[in-house]
Amino acid sequence: MIKDDCIFCKLANGIFDTNTVYEDENFRVILDIAPAAKGHCLVLPKKHFENALVADEDTLGKGMILAAKIGKKVKEAYGCDGINIVQNNGEAAGQTVFHLHIHVIPRYNDDTVKFEYDSLELKDEDFKEALTKLK
Ligand code: AMP
Ligand code: ZN
Repeated sequence: MIKDDCIFCKLANGIFDTNTVYEDENFRVILDIAPAAKGHCLVLPKKHFENALVADEDTLGKGMILAAKIGKKVKEAYGCDGINIVQNNGEAAGQTVFHLHIHVIPRYNDDTVKFEYDSLELKDEDFKEALTKLK
């Protein structure tokens, strides 16, 4: 349940102090220590899962519902124009802390936060290949 060498296990379970905006039996929502914007929150399950790909469905479902609730609260509190609810799985995908967490990030029309990529121009056969692999 709790992984000894996991910092987010310790934060989520109150073993280390952190800025908590919400807590229930299964989750703690904290302020990100290096936020993209004021009000940037992290939804942490108390149970340790390395990421979303190995987490149980109950945790994933409840985590997303909670992230949306927190997003609504953050939007009302900060009057931002939008909210990113994002979540990284694996180092290549930008994950730096290997305990499942969901970012709730306030966004403004004129902000400089970036989630960018260059779109590929795929051929029909690439789409067909994707369907063969993924369906
Ligand atoms: P990710 O890159 O998706 O793994 O996100 C990890 C996030 O955790 C980053 O936004 C960090 O700023 C944040 N973070 C790391 N350590 C702490 C901490 N002790 N308290 C709060 N946020 C943290
Ligand atoms: Zn953990």
